Amino acid sequence: MAHGTQVQEIRRNAGGKLSLALSSGQTLEADLVIMATGIRPNIDFLAGSGVSVEPGGIPVDDRMQTNIPGIYAAGDVAIGPDILAGRTASDTSASAHAIQPTAVDHGRIAGANMAGHETHYPGSLLLNVLDVVNLHCASFGLWRDEGHDTTTVFNASRPIYRKYVWHEDRIVGALFVGPIDDVTMLNDVGMVKGLIQTQQPLGDWAAYVKANPTDVRRAYVASGAAQALIGRTLLGAPARDRAYRVDGKTPPAWDKTATHGPLVSTQSEHYRELNPTPTPGIGKAE
Ligand SMILES: Cc1cc2nc3c(=O)[nH]c(=O)nc-3n(C[C@H](O)[C@H](O)[C@H](O)COP(=O)(O)OP(=O)(O)OC[C@H]3O[C@@H](n4cnc5c(N)ncnc54)[C@H](O)[C@@H]3O)c2cc1C
Repeated sequence: MAHGTQVQEIRRNAGGKLSLALSSGQTLEADLVIMATGIRPNIDFLAGSGVSVEPGGIPVDDRMQTNIPGIYAAGDVAIGPDILAGRTASDTSASAHAIQPTAVDHGRIAGANMAGHETHYPGSLLLNVLDVVNLHCASFGLWRDEGHDTTTVFNASRPIYRKYVWHEDRIVGALFVGPIDDVTMLNDVGMVKGLIQTQQPLGDWAAYVKANPTDVRRAYVASGAAQALIGRTLLGAPARDRAYRVDGKTPPAWDKTATHGPLVSTQSEHYRELNPTPTPGIGKAE
């Protein structure tokens, strides 16, 4: 471990390994170099402007407005609402999640408010999905939170790793590592992200997922996370026809008991009526 020093040069040596020359004069050999430099906002130009800044960026409210009415900040530079605020003791209510989805959300919310359409942002979710030497890796939310119930699945021979971080009966963070062709993992990544994003309480299904961590689908459907996600638009615009067709035809009537209900309805009030409860006895952990 080398601290307080910088990498000045990386060369491949005769043995095929990477050789790193550090500013301290030290040389390190490595098979792989991963650069993780963090982020630092370029906000010096705001000095003396009256816009409040912190070392991590510009604090904004849930309309992306700074401390000065009419001045907005969005994207990497903004410290905005965090969707998991208050979920855990170590959690803060505002974060700078320097990722593209947050920047897009921020920009849309700021733009709507600047144009006079008052819109409040529920908060961003920290997430990363990447391919690391042919392994798909994904992290969501409070994945490294200490002191919480976690459920971990590990099989080095495939290789597969999963971790869910719990706050009461909700999943507040998750980590996935698996082969790039593992379709099951890819499906579950989306569902777990939805559970974290909507913070749907799982009730009895929490115990089921803890006992069956690779069977997320039943809990996802039962929790109503899909309805919560489909019924929500960032800017609060009415949902459009989802073009759901059965045998090429539009289903004749919306039926809130049907599993396809949220796919068919264009009426936002229908989503509010949907409150599915876990089917007793189905797949429950004893
Ligand atoms: C190497 C790298 C890889 C990344 N990979 C991913 C990824 O895989 N997935 C993901 O979600 N995110 C990724 N990100 C993060 C993502 O790029 C950022 O979150 C996103 O671009 C932020 O958008 P933004 O508009 O807030 O800022 P930026 O895209 O940084 O745009 C800010 C712009 O403002 C300009 N600017 C700065 N100061 C001034 C000034 N004083 N006056 C005028 N203009 C100014 C800058 O030149 C820049 O063009 C990555 C970032 C990096 C650096």
